[in-house]
This record gives sequence, structure tokens and C-alpha cells, in this order.
Amino acid sequence: TDLPLYAVFGNPIAHSKSPQIHSGFAEQLQDPVRYETRLAPVDDLSGHWHAFLEEGGRGANVTVPFKEQAIALADRLSERARQAGAVNTLVVSDSGEVVGDNTDGAGLLLDLERLGAPLIGARILMLGAGGAVRGVLKPLLEVGPSELVVANRTVEKAIGLAELFKAYGQIRGCGFEDIEGRFDLVINATSASLSGDLPPLPETLFNEQALAYDMMYGAALTVFLEWAHTHGVRCADGLGMLVGQAAEAWYQWRGTRPDTTPILEAMRADLR
Ligand code: NDP
Repeated sequence: TDLPLYAVFGNPIAHSKSPQIHSGFAEQLQDPVRYETRLAPVDDLSGHWHAFLEEGGRGANVTVPFKEQAIALADRLSERARQAGAVNTLVVSDSGEVVGDNTDGAGLLLDLERLGAPLIGARILMLGAGGAVRGVLKPLLEVGPSELVVANRTVEKAIGLAELFKAYGQIRGCGFEDIEGRFDLVINATSASLSGDLPPLPETLFNEQALAYDMMYGAALTVFLEWAHTHGVRCADGLGMLVGQAAEAWYQWRGTRPDTTPILEAMRADLR
């Protein structure tokens, strides 16, 4: 077919939700595209990307484990991809230039705004200091929290990120045992949830109207959200972030902004 071609590259990729999200956007905006999954071997992302370009590919999403490798596929990086140190979206311009972008931060912000999360003037705690955190710190600081604390198992990584982003706002890095005071928004961006682990957190973590957010998502509540739930705070998982980063990628490719709410509702219904 002549439909504009997009794909998501990853390994594994079979269970990716991106095709469902993007076909939802295409249908909603009456802008049909072809969106496929591409399984690339871990040592040959480049070969598969170039074959995709030969087929006329116009853009792609990039997921685990390729977000850092994808930097090398781009002729140019957006400022936010450079800040994130990772590419999750590739955009092929009409002239054939390949731009590497990162929409994870925008996706998280879209979702936090949708949820009415405390942001401006809020005390925010970020748990974890991996790739996902690096991509969201600048947009989070730019909405103007009173303080952003990054706590991580490997303390040096939290301190390093705080140093890297200190120009954008009040930010501090520490270990879990050094977390002090109460927070309005606590975001779990550790992969501890994957193994059913909970970082060692103080019982006095949340303010009255706090929101607990886990970047991970699934049919069941994560261990972190279960714990937060027992403290009586509002909980949200990362499915909205996933749809949000896709919406921002779609905007980079197609120039239109999908309404994420109905897509998110359909995805949620499917998870159950
Ligand atoms: P990384 O592998 O880059 O980082 C993992 C982080 O988790 C590190 O800070 C690591 O600490 C910490 N960690 C791992 N295991 C434990 C544990 N048992 N106890 C405490 N801390 C632990 O992962 P990413 O940053 O790429 O992803 C983090 C999470 O965010 C994942 O669950 C991922 O699925 C999710 N995510 C969701 C997205 C969405 O759209 N919803 C988008 C991107 C990510 P240390 O530094 O000490 O090793």
C-alpha cells in the first residue's frame, strides 16, 4: 500500500502496545498510516533501520533495549533527546534527514496534567535514576516544583543527575535512607516493580493530597502502588505516560494532536 510507513523497533517487540495506540490515533484523526513492529537483533539495529528507510519508512518509535543505540541512527538530535541521552522517536524529514527525539518526558507531563497532579510549587520525589528518569527531569523542573528530590539505590547516580539538571530548578540527589519530609507527588521510576520489590521507603512519605505514580503498568497494581494505596493516597500507573509519549511522537510525525483519553480508556479495558 501507499500509506505512510511507521514502526516500533525493539527486542522483544511482539507484545508492544504501540501498534494499537497508533492505529487508534490514525482512526481518530482519519489519517491512515501503516504502523508495524520490527524485531531487531540486539547487535544490528542499524541494519534493520536502514532496510526500513529503503522501504520508505517515515518514522519510528524505539524501545528497550535500543533507546541509547538509536542516537547513532540520527543525523541530528532534538534538544530534549540530547538532554535525555536517549532517543525513543525517529523522524524522517521530507529531505530525508533523520532527527532523533525523545518524547518520554512530554508523555509523562501530559499524563500528570491529565491527572491534575500537584506540580507547581509541589514537593516531588523521584524514585530511581535510570534512563527514564534522565528523560523526564528537565520538563518536570520546568513546571516549577518547590523541590525535586531524586532518590536511588545507587546514590552516586542520583547525585550525578541532580548535578546535571541543577540549572533548571531546585533538585537534590540522595539514597532511599536519606529521604526527608513529606511529598505531594511521588513517582516510582525504578524497575524494582518488575521483580515485585519495593524500595525501602519511610512511612511518612505522603502529604494529605498526594499522588503516587508508577511508570510501570499492568493488569494488577504494582507493589509500590499497593503500598501507596495502604497510605490512603491517590494512585496512577504508567499506561497514560505510554499513550502520552506516543501522542507526542505522532505529533512529530503527522503534525496533529490526538485526544489521548479515549485511546487510554480502550487500552485500560484491554489490560483487564
Ligand atoms: P533503567 O534500567 O535505566 O533504571 C532502573 C532503575 O531502577 C535504576 O535507578 C535502578 O537503581 C532501579 N532499580 C532496579 N531494581 C531495583 C530494586 N530492586 N530496588 C531499588 N531500585 C531498583 O530503567 P528505565 O529508567 O529505563 O525504566 C524504569 C521503569 O520505568 C521501568 O519499570 C520501565 O518499564 C518504566 N518506563 C515506563 C515508561 C512508560 O511510558 N510508561 C517509559 C520508560 C520507562 P540502580 O541505579 O541502583 O541500579
